[in-house]
Amino acid sequence: MLNRVISEDNIQKAKKLTFHYDKIVIVTHRAPDGDALGSSLGLYHFLKESGKRDVQVIVPNDYPVFLHWMPGTKSVINAEWQKKHAELAIASADLIFCLDFNTLKRIAQLENPVRQSKAKKILIDHHLSPENFCDVTISHPEISSTSELIFRFICRMGMFERINEPGAECIYTGMMTDTGAFTYHSSSYSIYYIISELLQKGIDKDAIYAKVYNQCQEGRVRMQGYVLYEKMKLFDEYKTALITLSEQEHMRFNPERGDTEGFVNIPLSMKKVVFSAFIREDKGIIRISLRSKGTFPTNRFAEEVYGGGGHLNASGGEFSGTLEEAVKKFEDALPVYKDLLE
Ligand code: 5GP
Ligand code: MN
Repeated sequence: MLNRVISEDNIQKAKKLTFHYDKIVIVTHRAPDGDALGSSLGLYHFLKESGKRDVQVIVPNDYPVFLHWMPGTKSVINAEWQKKHAELAIASADLIFCLDFNTLKRIAQLENPVRQSKAKKILIDHHLSPENFCDVTISHPEISSTSELIFRFICRMGMFERINEPGAECIYTGMMTDTGAFTYHSSSYSIYYIISELLQKGIDKDAIYAKVYNQCQEGRVRMQGYVLYEKMKLFDEYKTALITLSEQEHMRFNPERGDTEGFVNIPLSMKKVVFSAFIREDKGIIRISLRSKGTFPTNRFAEEVYGGGGHLNASGGEFSGTLEEAVKKFEDALPVYKDLLE
């Protein structure tokens, strides 16, 4: 039996809204990752299986190429390319699910349309400090993925039968990607109970792993070699590694969306490194990815230095300025956190 995480009160309130309304929109955060899409499409397949005809998944912008295979992506509205379509769907929705984000700022240009919408709203998420804008807030930072929360939500409504194979594939993908293929935040026994339930739906977990992690172009592998050999700086005093990549350097490798994903984790394989950062230029904006081992709070660093956020061991943010300025900010901040970098 699966232990209870979501309160009974929240389950009942969310269930009532879900089955009372028919025009349903699911939104997730900008730069959607495996868990953002996994939870959104996992819920989408469940709602479709439940007979809901008018369900739209909306993403603020594009997602990595290695997630394109996920079942249901063809019906996802990309608000960057289909602005009017996305805004209309949000304005005419009577129920909006907000998945895998804690503040409306995280859905970029969809913030105002969602805030202004008269629809009922349900948040399901695992980031700290959820903003209070929903009718039901299901927020569980102790759970490693929003996709797991979707599985729990469906099961607690007594509707496990309505998880079909495509839905199970999506849920599994989100659980896998938010735990680095079950290498961190993945020691809870319930994760493996859920996986065994998903396997009974017919998913092939090894095939899903291969579709996500073994499908890249040559350029990504060569770029990985380049950034590790040429662009990684170590700050031994702070047990820190920093990799930077300019747009121009990135362009040399015939890039495709999402092909720098995972680079930030590699320096953590060194015993002496507890904090790793990847700072890159992306169409005029600087994107920061932070990872740590143990107790170093990357979310505090992301928030205090770049106004970003995230989880203890994985956070991110954006910076408007040059790559050099973002790097200087990083290097200037390190001494402030020295005590925590032990
Ligand atoms: P990534 O490094 O994979 O882009 O992001 C890691 C985690 O950091 C995400 O799962 C998300 O929780 C958080 N994150 C990334 N970018 C931002 C941002 O701009 N603002 C906030 N608040 N969190 C972010
Ligand atoms: Mn997530």
